[in-house]
Amino acid sequence: MKWKETVKGLKAYEPGKPIDAVKREFGLDEITKLASNENPLGCSPKVNAFLKNTDFNFALYPDGYAQDMRTAVANHAGVAEKDLLFGNGSDELISIICRALLSPETNTVMATPTFSQYKLNAVIEGAEVREVPLNANREHDLDAMLAAIDDQTSVVWVCSPNNPTGGITPTAAIQNFLAKVPEDVLVVLDEAYVEYVMDPDYADTLPLYKQYSNVLLMRTFSKAYGLAAFRVGYAIGQEALVRKLDPVRGPFNNTVLSQAIIPIALSDTDYIEKCRAINAAGKQQYIAFCEKHGLDYYPSETNFILFEIKADSNEVFQELMSRGYIVRSGAALGVPNYLRITIGTEQQNAGLLAQLEDILTKKGVLA
Ligand SMILES: *Cc1c(COP(=O)(O)O)cnc(C)c1O
Repeated sequence: MKWKETVKGLKAYEPGKPIDAVKREFGLDEITKLASNENPLGCSPKVNAFLKNTDFNFALYPDGYAQDMRTAVANHAGVAEKDLLFGNGSDELISIICRALLSPETNTVMATPTFSQYKLNAVIEGAEVREVPLNANREHDLDAMLAAIDDQTSVVWVCSPNNPTGGITPTAAIQNFLAKVPEDVLVVLDEAYVEYVMDPDYADTLPLYKQYSNVLLMRTFSKAYGLAAFRVGYAIGQEALVRKLDPVRGPFNNTVLSQAIIPIALSDTDYIEKCRAINAAGKQQYIAFCEKHGLDYYPSETNFILFEIKADSNEVFQELMSRGYIVRSGAALGVPNYLRITIGTEQQNAGLLAQLEDILTKKGVLA
């Protein structure tokens, strides 16, 4: 086969072991998965109630313009319908952006560590990837990223809050950055965890896209809304930008059921508030653990936390899995000797931390 040169060495995304496979391998009855930043509380009960009583003609393609979902998201976000681009998850938006803008003649600038899909998609398009380490504040180093931009730069990625570290880039800093980025360079602001943010340095980002024609905001229903299974993400940009990206999108990329449930999920604002509060309390369980044991942690504005374990993260990951907890090893994310753990329910967090305390004590890390 005449594969693209760029695809030859690639490995498929490793989504972490499925729950059933782990159950079988370790003979466990119950598995707690805190690895992919899914909402441990699930989605709004209103969505579940709706799905029990639906009757669709599944022979028909979905609405390719996703009109009802579009109206609901536009009203919720406070933007014009024409400023929205929907993806089959924001993962698909990343691939649309890369297909439309990257080629072997271009480069793309991003932080490191950051969300792995930016790099993967850029590599597939043959673009040069310029990775800029986080600064001493553990934020995107926007000065260094600006310095990395040249005439061949096509896309810059700002992940705020950043995955896997969890911290935001202050909106004022992004504002200053945008004032200096050439207007023919697309700046993607990935806000997958925006609903969880509590840091007052995070101001509303809608004015950024209204002011700059080269800004695209990216959000998702996979995290706080607890709807990862439905694969819906959306981008917000000026109409002219959205119109250029839209032909690269698959024509029916959001399913009928996905389009039907999003307006319901958006209507349940109390549910998101409840999830935010439970998440904030759960985060404190991890912070207390780290402070008790003198372990470094990254301040998080998300539903996950990256913290130090002073031990081989692949080994501890394996050990936790054998005890029924699936997390992410920092080694796989470019942060060895750390774990990234999705904040679960109070009980899940307590159960996991008890196991982790035992593992690290046996390893001689904790006194
Ligand atoms: C989870 C995640 C996504 C992907 O979300 P989907 O909408 O489920 O594709 C995008 N960006 C970041 C930073 C994420 O953590």
